[in-house]
Amino acid sequence: MLAFLRRSSRQAALARPESCAIDGAHRRDLARRGAGGHTAVMSGQLDYHAITEAFTRFHAADPEPKTELEYTNTFTLLVAVVLSAQATDVGVNKATRALFAVADTPEKMVALGEERIREHVRSLGFFRNKARNVFLLSKALVESFGGRVPDSRAALAGLPGVGRKTANVVLNVAFGFPAQPVDTHIFRVSNRTGIAPGKDPLAVERALEDNVPVRFQRHSHHWLILHGRYICKARKPRCADCLIRDICLFEDKTA
Ligand code: SF4
Repeated sequence: MLAFLRRSSRQAALARPESCAIDGAHRRDLARRGAGGHTAVMSGQLDYHAITEAFTRFHAADPEPKTELEYTNTFTLLVAVVLSAQATDVGVNKATRALFAVADTPEKMVALGEERIREHVRSLGFFRNKARNVFLLSKALVESFGGRVPDSRAALAGLPGVGRKTANVVLNVAFGFPAQPVDTHIFRVSNRTGIAPGKDPLAVERALEDNVPVRFQRHSHHWLILHGRYICKARKPRCADCLIRDICLFEDKTA
């Protein structure tokens, strides 16, 4: 999954906690922080050939990138993504292993009940709201969708606790649709590199749909999210280890 991170020199660095130091690049990032909490550091716009080369390299390094969330079916993927807001995938996986062992369908989740769901997810931030949303979305799936997860963005986004980003993750990962969920990592990488500049997540989503060659759209969000999580970090991007350093338009590259 993380083939492009498996190079031996990178493993030790991956294990180290992210630096808390605020370097010059981060100060400039903060200075440009938008009202929505997203940092719109727009470096310009890469052209078709540069974007194609960037994704050719991501593909060569990791041909079949996968989500780091654990799930067993479309329903458990949806629940895992809902629980992942403001939480790490590792933390979500710890909570969901036991939860999905007893409730891997909407019917079983409803039968489990909100209180017992809460006990399973109490290690996560906002666990009360998340448990309520998991219970209510399971109930809605049973009552309105015959216990199946719908394959439309509007239907998904109409479920409790499910926003556009979560709907796009489910459409992409579970249904194979080239949807472009934009989280904080993808927003940052898209703007810094010039692959898909935009002032807010929806603008970046549209730019990704427009700019990323169709052949790469199915996996582009995994490549970008993993790149942002492990290499193009918010506070101190690891530009020396970056596959696309010579392509990226970010002015404040680290040595
Ligand atoms: S060169 Fe640096 S800023 Fe650009 S994508 Fe790579 S890690 Fe991010």
